[in-house]
Amino acid sequence: VHGTAGSVVVEQPGLKRASTLRNIMFVTSEVAPWSKTGGLADVLGSLPFALAERGHRVMVVSPRWVLLGRFRYSLLTLAAMEAPFFLELPVPPQQQDPPRSPTALAAAEAAAAAAAKAANGSGPTAAAIAEIEAVVQAESSVPKTKYGQDIMFVANDWHTSLIPVYLAAKYRPHGVYGNARAILAIHNLRHQGVFPPYTYESLGLPPHWYGCLEWQYPPHQRQGSWAEEGRSVNHLKAGLTTADRVVTVSAGYAEEIKTYLGGWGMEGIIAARDPVLNGIVNGIDTDEWNPSIDPHLPATYDATNFVEGKAKCKMELQRELGLPVNEHIPLVAFIGRLDPQKGADILLEAAPALLRHNNVQLVCLGSGNKDLEDGLRWLEAEFKDRARGWVGFNVPFSHKLTAAADILLMPSRFEPCGLNQLYAMRYGAVPVAHKTGGLRDTVLDFNPWAQEGTGWTYTSCDAQGLLHAVGVALLTYNNHKEDFRKLQLRGMAREASWDGAAQQYEQIIDWAFMDPP
Ligand code: ADP
Repeated sequence: VHGTAGSVVVEQPGLKRASTLRNIMFVTSEVAPWSKTGGLADVLGSLPFALAERGHRVMVVSPRWVLLGRFRYSLLTLAAMEAPFFLELPVPPQQQDPPRSPTALAAAEAAAAAAAKAANGSGPTAAAIAEIEAVVQAESSVPKTKYGQDIMFVANDWHTSLIPVYLAAKYRPHGVYGNARAILAIHNLRHQGVFPPYTYESLGLPPHWYGCLEWQYPPHQRQGSWAEEGRSVNHLKAGLTTADRVVTVSAGYAEEIKTYLGGWGMEGIIAARDPVLNGIVNGIDTDEWNPSIDPHLPATYDATNFVEGKAKCKMELQRELGLPVNEHIPLVAFIGRLDPQKGADILLEAAPALLRHNNVQLVCLGSGNKDLEDGLRWLEAEFKDRARGWVGFNVPFSHKLTAAADILLMPSRFEPCGLNQLYAMRYGAVPVAHKTGGLRDTVLDFNPWAQEGTGWTYTSCDAQGLLHAVGVALLTYNNHKEDFRKLQLRGMAREASWDGAAQQYEQIIDWAFMDPP
């Protein structure tokens, strides 16, 4: 019953099938639940499965990180250089036919070990790239694995954005992967993989490709001695200019990154690639984020009993956190990386007024920037009977908090897509969000006359804007309970599965194969 790319597929009733089946290889720096620092991991833990369910042959290639305490990210990369093992996920496992050959994996690891060794001393990025390249090569050269030459590579963010460059500079000119294509998916344009010019040598690219990576920093972004003259290599820029197609995680973000304010210096290059640029809003893993079966919740609920279910979750959380236990006090939540992008500083600025002027409880979960972590601790100490600031990365707690919350704040300065507002809506927590990027696309403003909308967005990206929007949300919660319930129900009913996004990806893959490489 399982189709494989290139074979004839018999349509099964109830099965969602793509009309053209592809071999797709996602390459990523993180993939949930094995490794996660943010939304990128969530996407890579779901989208490939959604595509595999539609009949495609899909694989995810990702380094296997080692967690080394608080300094997870930088040391992880170094750790991968020393221990080049791969998390290699045939998706879904039962569709792998025949099972993944151990020889292929061993070959990949040996090749990667050699590559990593060769790249040793030239920077973790080069080593990571060498590893990934080795896995992909080994995988595709084993005949039984069927990935062959016609692969659609999907590179994700700067970590893997040299894949289209390798295809164009190293493989195609030698008749390898002649018909392969590469999509670059941008999950966050802020991080671009910018390194000193001398690191180019370790990338194994021909010298005349240097210009593809070369990057002149705008003066206001210059920092560090090697960038003093503005010279650097920029991995994301190279991927952007070379990929067959570029995808971002929402249509709103696809527009913003073409502008001065959203482009991080890359707006001109992105605007030039407009004909091959598309935005596809992320879906969510509706098994992991489903309030009716969520094992983390003290009480599960669905659209028929969410009022009682959420009240139980709220009171349990209040008990756990030592807050006054009262189901009628609105619970406002924030979950996210503590980073200027997420507007945690704006939240901290707004919090005193919010807590002093309203009968409300505020619970924040986040980790990241040290000052902002201290800010959460300060908040809790200052408002002991009303606020909690949980510093850390805690997935079960994020589920419990989303279920307990009546309102979820997303004061992000920019937001490529944003997942927490999607989780919140599904759990009956109403989002209040800055009108930017994916938040603009996914949170529809409440219109009491038409009884439409799933939350509130505001345009003035500061504490006043946030306070005003939360004020309206609290007014509705306290004085227009029926309206608020309907808002919650519309959010819970919102279509959020990955199948829609998978179909849009298929369309883009089809377009990519229509154009010459
Ligand atoms: P980004 O990728 O920019 O960090 P997203 O909203 O796309 O933002 O995704 C963030 C993901 O990380 C969500 O799944 C969110 O629940 C999770 N997350 C962020 N911070 C924490 C935390 N402190 N504890 C648990 N999960 C977190």
